[in-house]
Amino acid sequence: MQTQDSWVVVGLDNGGNKNNATVVEPTGRFLVDSMVETPSRVQEGPQVAIEALAEAFTGILARTGVDRARVRGIGLDTPGPASADGVVSSRGSTNFAHPGWRGFDFRGALEARLGVRVVYNNDGNAAALYAHYVAFGASAGNRSSISAIVGTGLGGGVIEAGHIVRGASGFAGELGHVHVPMEGLLGEGQPLPRCNCGFFGDVESVASLTGIEKNLLPYWLSRFEGHELSKVGDVAKAAKLVRSYGEKGDPLARKIFEQQAMAIGRLFTIAANFTDPDAFFVGGGVVESAPEFRDWFLATVRANTTLREEQAQTVKLALVPDRDMAGARGAALAAVEFLHGSASPDHS
Ligand SMILES: [Zn+2]
Repeated sequence: MQTQDSWVVVGLDNGGNKNNATVVEPTGRFLVDSMVETPSRVQEGPQVAIEALAEAFTGILARTGVDRARVRGIGLDTPGPASADGVVSSRGSTNFAHPGWRGFDFRGALEARLGVRVVYNNDGNAAALYAHYVAFGASAGNRSSISAIVGTGLGGGVIEAGHIVRGASGFAGELGHVHVPMEGLLGEGQPLPRCNCGFFGDVESVASLTGIEKNLLPYWLSRFEGHELSKVGDVAKAAKLVRSYGEKGDPLARKIFEQQAMAIGRLFTIAANFTDPDAFFVGGGVVESAPEFRDWFLATVRANTTLREEQAQTVKLALVPDRDMAGARGAALAAVEFLHGSASPDHS
């Protein structure tokens, strides 16, 4: 039984279309065990979106029967790019296209609107923290891990001794823009893949939906003449279908996902020499697919992760669990940690 004076934290995961909300006790026990989604309305600009989050906040309290007075803080996560303190990039971004978002202090605005302390993280870092806590439980504070999450881009995070590594400007853990060797990864005559960030041959240029659309699919369609996907016409639409082909064992799709797994394995190889973590986690749509395909993908990542013998004996390679809830849950856990006074002092 929970006592009435025990405090809680609300986790709010803000996405391009939906908000997902959760409530957690300081012990790490979640009071919500399923997705609680409401429209995020981010396309309508910051004012509308802040109101939508306020509704998600009151909605989740009503659903869990938690008195508002018990809420000590809110963990907010959003897609990037934003500063470590939740100020949206002044250059705007895919998810925050409305001009009102440019340079908008998302964290500060929600805190002002609700009168409750808001702790911000980007969605990749939040999910990475959640995966870390699920894997290590009570020993999370003594462990380190790296998560790579394949989506439209490649997100993730670096967890060291149970804390999110944020970096000086908030860009630590931007794993998608780490260069990995392309030698032996690219097919014959395959152009060097270009990322939206301007780099050539970084992880995201291969291991992301955007990478499939811009780089991998056009090349592999030229190698599999007459493939069904070449008849889709719109390459963006075709890119979204590649995973379902992969699940059915389609050779073209498997080539594409093999390249993605290789890129992630090479990233983990770099990470193993950088922070030598206890665990690597892989997340995103690819791991929420048919078991045979998911296992093959994870095994291919592992086969391309070169570790020292001492590391290989102990390191964990696993999936980011509860992907759809990982953002809200990780954001909530980060806020609990912050409010306990043990988190890194990123904002006063
Ligand atoms: Zn990049």
